[in-house]
Amino acid sequence: LVRFDKVVKRYGDHVVLDELDFTVDRGEHVTLIGPSGSGKTTILRLLMTLEKVSGGVIWVDGSPLSHVRAPDGSLKPAGEKQLRESRKKIGMVFQQFNLFPNMKVIQNVTEAPVSVLGRSREEAEVRARELLDLVGLSAKIDAHPSQLSGGQQQRVAIARALAMEPEILLLDEVTSALDPELVAGVLELLCDIARDTDITMLCVTHEMSFARDVSEKVLMFDAGRIVESGSPEKIFTDPSHERTREFLNAVL
Ligand code: ATP
Repeated sequence: LVRFDKVVKRYGDHVVLDELDFTVDRGEHVTLIGPSGSGKTTILRLLMTLEKVSGGVIWVDGSPLSHVRAPDGSLKPAGEKQLRESRKKIGMVFQQFNLFPNMKVIQNVTEAPVSVLGRSREEAEVRARELLDLVGLSAKIDAHPSQLSGGQQQRVAIARALAMEPEILLLDEVTSALDPELVAGVLELLCDIARDTDITMLCVTHEMSFARDVSEKVLMFDAGRIVESGSPEKIFTDPSHERTREFLNAVL
């Protein structure tokens, strides 16, 4: 479903991703681990089209995400219109929730389906209520984000991402800003979603037990490259690479 083909990302002279190749199959749940600054968040931002590639091509569902195909078959960098279209397939949940503070919970979840997907308000509300029920927040639909705990705000952000019916859900350290006692509930919700839906997930996380529970594949990054990849069992119990062992010793 997703293919990075020699993807390069540079900021000035700083090479953040260095000819990165990897694939994610439809329905797969992949976690990205590795030291701070190794490029994990950049990968999600590129997929969300919040950043543009400096080289290489990102493919989603057989189409180039970062490019458009010209009549002569060559690939040209995508314009804003194409990027907006590509973005519809992908939902993202951020570390800092990023809810609309002046909108009620229900409006946070219905806004994009109405304005971006062109759904009727009634239809969007029916779906939003179902999703808020799924994330355990039926009682809070008329609250404003500031009236909710961090864990509840993150649940709204998850419902908001799912309301767009994305093929791919990107999760960027979604529990790092939460009080410790709220972390387990949010991770459990995400494991339920991974188990009960066919959504494809890419998660950047520092929660190694979550990586183990939610994913079939772990990619270990260092300095913009994949050091090794494999099942959580393999990576966490028998890593092949010294860099992975050092990293896991530091975080576990
Ligand atoms: P962390 O776990 O700390 O979030 P990460 O692996 O997600 O780290 P990225 O956030 O992808 O790492 O950052 C990779 C590198 O790119 C870092 O060295 C960072 O300083 C640099 N970087 C990211 N965004 C920008 C930007 N907008 N301008 C310049 N440099 C940037």
